Amino acid sequence: MKINLELIAPEKLKPLFNDPLKLPFGRHFTDYMFTMEYSLEQGWHHPCIKPYQPLLLQPSANVFHYSQEVFEGQKAYQSARGDILMFRPQENARRLNRSLRRLCMPEIDENDFMQAEAELLKLEKRWIPTQKGASLYVRPAVIGTEPALGIKSSSEYLFFIILSPVGPYFKEGFNPVSLWVSDTYSRVGNGGTGEAKTGGNYAGSLLATREATQKGYSQVLWLDAAEHRFIEEVGAMNIFFILDGKLVTPSLDGTILRGITRKSVLELASELGIASQERKITIEEIIDGIQSGKLSEIFGAGTAAVISPVGKIGFKGKDYFINDQRTGPWAQKFFDTLIGLQYGEIPDKYGWVFQIK
Ligand SMILES: *Cc1c(COP(=O)(O)O)cnc(C)c1O
Repeated sequence: MKINLELIAPEKLKPLFNDPLKLPFGRHFTDYMFTMEYSLEQGWHHPCIKPYQPLLLQPSANVFHYSQEVFEGQKAYQSARGDILMFRPQENARRLNRSLRRLCMPEIDENDFMQAEAELLKLEKRWIPTQKGASLYVRPAVIGTEPALGIKSSSEYLFFIILSPVGPYFKEGFNPVSLWVSDTYSRVGNGGTGEAKTGGNYAGSLLATREATQKGYSQVLWLDAAEHRFIEEVGAMNIFFILDGKLVTPSLDGTILRGITRKSVLELASELGIASQERKITIEEIIDGIQSGKLSEIFGAGTAAVISPVGKIGFKGKDYFINDQRTGPWAQKFFDTLIGLQYGEIPDKYGWVFQIK
């Protein structure tokens, strides 16, 4: 793929931040973006790296009405040696295509996806923080752009990638979060779009999240839509329990997003000395486990926070506390290992760390 490059005069580039460790999540964007268009006649065409700028779309564009939209979330790191590193980006390319298929949108060649990210990141290298904990968040997205109100799959699309320098999710080490168990709302249903990384899933989750924060909790613990018993995810992360000394996480049943952090935690488990299980888990089992002491830790896993310990669960008007609201040893171990690998400090025997060349 030959990417068209529209350069900015050096004196017009944005100034960098003095302290990337203080950057809020997803508020600042770099100088450039990648775009590529799709039409039925031409397929994906006109790949372009150009100045970060507003999009020009018709108000009738599909995405505004029928939500054909999928996205990815990744991070780029700069190692102590100045290498640009990413974590398992091929997995994101594959998952983007799975999401695209589910939303009836055209797939993107994995090599083109990887090339687009590599060329954009090389051009934007100065934005990739070198401080451990800070990184450059990578947000690819695809939207339906055909200006037509008939309900059908769009015949035109835009693929774009934007970059945002971000600080660490936890500024003073870990800060265990509190969860509210929603027994009325659900994130997705059987046969729905739960496995796809699509904006609509998020739009539908905001009201429950607002109720959770109004009650003083930071995120929602999602249960299954049919019975409101089986645990699915936490906020926008996958969830793990240390139960009876085992690492337990809900099995992928079509409603749970296939997190790459989730997959990596499971793949690391035996090496770090803990047996793992993927199975159905009810909220009752978790509450019983907290009360009996069999449950020692809960943590979320996802690209943004990597690992996010859970200190408190609110269920049917009662609060349950986990590990005295402190970060547990397993959350810490998985966090240290993943971060160590991502910044190129721990030798990568898994082939997970991808160097952009
Ligand atoms: C992106 C996402 C995750 C985490 O996936 P990672 O690949 O680990 O970042 C988990 N749940 C939901 C709903 C998500 O959108």
